[in-house]
Amino acid sequence: MEKKRVLSGMQASGRLHLGNLLGALEKWKKLQDEYECFYFIADWHALSTSYEDTHEIKDNVFNIAVDWLAAGINPEKSTIFLQSMIPEHAVLHLLLSMITPVPWLERNPTYKEKQQEIKDRDLTTYGFLGYPVLQAADIIIYKANYVPVGIDQLSHLELTREIIRRFYYIYKKTIFIEPEALVSEVPKLPGLDNRKMSKSYGNAIFLSDTPDTVTRKVRTMITDPQRVKKSDIGNPEICTVFKFHKIFSPARDASEIYTGCTTAGIGCTDCKLMLARDLNDYVKPIFEKRKELSGKPEKINEILQEGSKRARTIAKQTLSEVQEAMGLLVS
Ligand code: SF4
Repeated sequence: MEKKRVLSGMQASGRLHLGNLLGALEKWKKLQDEYECFYFIADWHALSTSYEDTHEIKDNVFNIAVDWLAAGINPEKSTIFLQSMIPEHAVLHLLLSMITPVPWLERNPTYKEKQQEIKDRDLTTYGFLGYPVLQAADIIIYKANYVPVGIDQLSHLELTREIIRRFYYIYKKTIFIEPEALVSEVPKLPGLDNRKMSKSYGNAIFLSDTPDTVTRKVRTMITDPQRVKKSDIGNPEICTVFKFHKIFSPARDASEIYTGCTTAGIGCTDCKLMLARDLNDYVKPIFEKRKELSGKPEKINEILQEGSKRARTIAKQTLSEVQEAMGLLVS
């Protein structure tokens, strides 16, 4: 039986952190065995917010590809490609933008949220408003059945589905598949300061961090603020360190830490050292693989070229169908 197709991507906007690993990569890795997976690095999307400062985009593409491979995304199983190597995404974006009403984009919740969040750049651009249309093109050009998303991205996927319905309403041709969301429960991982882990908050642990850096960062983590001395009884439920223990430490250790903390039997310094050890054990295989792949830029380039070639064959075919449906000459 033919496998259903999954598509997902990540913006080329920086190194990947533990939040990306748990929130996306671990999930992507599992999907590879069940679905035909297409994973792409969205370098054009990075331009939607970083159009003035583009000097890091190429490095980000390389580093993200390295992070993916080190985390277990396998080019033998999945098609790994670069958005800008497939110009058909841009053409489909243009064609879809002709039929997408502007109010649909203006009501996109992340449009306003990001404008409020990112104050140091002018985001009143056409590209920023229209990036969900590019996102729709990215997905539907591969006729993906499923898109793994977080709950906060469901509105984007719904917009993609609305654009498909509008295309059908206008041109009466069923070309695209309405993709469904693959929403899975992932443990919420806070940053070092207990806010959401994000590179822009400076509170992230990166997959490329050395073991020493991981240990140093763990030492700075926010604990139970009421626990000043070791003799104070702590509350692990409000402690960032314990949230990490629950995910990265063996269950028995986490339970011992819980007891130790609530009976003042363990100090925060020791608790953090245990976490640093467990965390480093957890990411060690990724870190080692990363180190090896970082010295092989030709291999990374080859994987992206090969994947992009494979993806482009499908993208070209879909675009021809779209051009025909819209009454255009098929190139
Ligand atoms: S002992 Fe551990 S869990 Fe308890 S407050 Fe300190 S760091 Fe947090």
